[in-house]
Amino acid sequence: MRAVDELLKAKVLLPAIKRPADFDIVEFFSEYGRYIAHLAIVIKNDHGEVFYESSCAPCSMENARKLKTCLDLASALDIEYTFLVYCFSDTVLSKRFGVVREGVETPPFDFRKFICPNKPEYRQYLSEIIREIEELRPSSIVLMDVRYPWRNFCFCKRCRSEFAEYAGSPTILTSSHYLLEVLQQYEQYYEMWLEWRSKVVSEALAEILSKKKEGIPVYVEIILDPVSEMYKGLVEFFAQDIEKMAQFVDGFMVNLFPYSGVPNERVTIEILEPLLATNKDVRIFYEGKIDDRAIKVLRYISSKLESERVFINIGGQK
Ligand SMILES: [Zn+2]
Repeated sequence: MRAVDELLKAKVLLPAIKRPADFDIVEFFSEYGRYIAHLAIVIKNDHGEVFYESSCAPCSMENARKLKTCLDLASALDIEYTFLVYCFSDTVLSKRFGVVREGVETPPFDFRKFICPNKPEYRQYLSEIIREIEELRPSSIVLMDVRYPWRNFCFCKRCRSEFAEYAGSPTILTSSHYLLEVLQQYEQYYEMWLEWRSKVVSEALAEILSKKKEGIPVYVEIILDPVSEMYKGLVEFFAQDIEKMAQFVDGFMVNLFPYSGVPNERVTIEILEPLLATNKDVRIFYEGKIDDRAIKVLRYISSKLESERVFINIGGQK
């Protein structure tokens, strides 16, 4: 941790706090408060809890107290704060709005907490949360997990019927049972499937932001796909179309972990080129294991980007 301490104090890395409840906020500010200019903190976690008193979402009081302490101290020390908002991963509401899997593929992570991005009620719920957290005056907002969990999601009733209509209702899609493997046998329908899903995710992004006022910049999290180890499979696996999403956000935050299987020594600045080409702001989030190699990579990326762009999860590292 000594290397991280030094890099935080030198503003090469910025702190991100994922689990405020496990974290000693006061101790953190007394040690780093005078050095840091910007921190990121989760305000809605992937369990579905928010960390402030909300009119619509379940609140974790312990985390809410921690968040309030954090924001009070940050304001007193003139430190800006960014909120991380988990969107389509939400354990609490996944029981009602969860995704439906078909076919044999399993994503390399737990998909059961995922919500179908094609649920208007849930999109509206997220838009209300964004409206509420704007009142807490963050310097920016990052929307996490705005995607499908894998390419064989989602086959819920709504996704099936809307996709069949989008594709002109051919017989194979109107049969009672069609699977990813069947779609893949018909290239044109498989392409349509990928196109339609990325449209759904981009529309979901627009709707989440529909109640937001102008002013506070919004970023969307992008993950590296574990198959191509870059962005090649971003649309295919996660329905994240960078160009479509760029219309609605001010920037992207690349999460280098945990989905990426990219060995750290292969992380070069080229990894960010498709995003930099959009002329949007690009940030990095690292929540993996911190070892010498990770530090080397993060220091390198930080030197290549404009200053203060690389966030590191510091909760639970000590
Ligand atoms: Zn669905």
